[in-house]
Amino acid sequence: PLDKDELGRNTWSFLHTMAAYFPEKPSIKQQTDMKSLINIFSNFYPCEYCASDLRTDMKDYPPDTSGQKELSLWFCKIHNKVNKKLGKPEFDCDKVDERWKDGWKD
Ligand code: FAD
Repeated sequence: PLDKDELGRNTWSFLHTMAAYFPEKPSIKQQTDMKSLINIFSNFYPCEYCASDLRTDMKDYPPDTSGQKELSLWFCKIHNKVNKKLGKPEFDCDKVDERWKDGWKD
């Protein structure tokens, strides 16, 4: 059976990493392609109610594909909406590159 939590962890890993390596100055085509990818993703994510809530959230808060920082922040905030819904702690979005791109500094 589908393990929603395992799927979620792996999917967030992919989504945040993809955002972390998105160009800082994307072309128009890269921006429209990323918007399409996110839209199509939200139609096929294999957890029906998760995908449905995501589509609702995206209506109020559309993806920002203007650059790497913006896209990473967008995914961070979208993930935080899910964290809030599940009663999980909010993630500090100032630390999103440290977590998903550069590595924790210590
Ligand atoms: P996860 O939430 O999977 O996070 C993995 C890691 O990401 C964390 O350890 C942390 O290091 C990092 N992280 C946490 N928050 C952020 C953030 N805001 N920004 C950047 N990095 C962060 N589950 C449900 O039960 N109901 C739902 O409706 C639901 N909707 C989902 C929608 C989507 C699009 C996705 C991808 C997953 C959804 N899930 C849902 C799964 C859920 O979000 C978690 O993945 C799952 O509960 C496992 O949680 P976790 O505590 O292991 O960490």
